[in-house]
Amino acid sequence: MALEMAFPIVLILTLFIAAFIVLTRHQAHMRAQRNLPDRATYLASAGADGACPKCGATETAEHGLHGGEDAVRIVTCAKCQALLYQYKRDQAAD
Ligand SMILES: [Zn+2]
Repeated sequence: MALEMAFPIVLILTLFIAAFIVLTRHQAHMRAQRNLPDRATYLASAGADGACPKCGATETAEHGLHGGEDAVRIVTCAKCQALLYQYKRDQAAD
């Protein structure tokens, strides 16, 4: 088989493998976020100040699980981005 025929096959295979790796990593990240402890469990294990177990910082940042306005909030360390805990924002009555 000529080399010029093998090149597009290798290219397509590389793209498929790259897409698979990206999707697998994304799914693992989403699973890690869904499996986070709730706030009470986290504070019980981390202490009352809730310092990050990785770097000791107390500043936190939060984002929604599936986007900015998701009621399920994921709280991360503002310094090292370690996943800390999750909580459900009270939804407005509709
Ligand atoms: Zn941290």
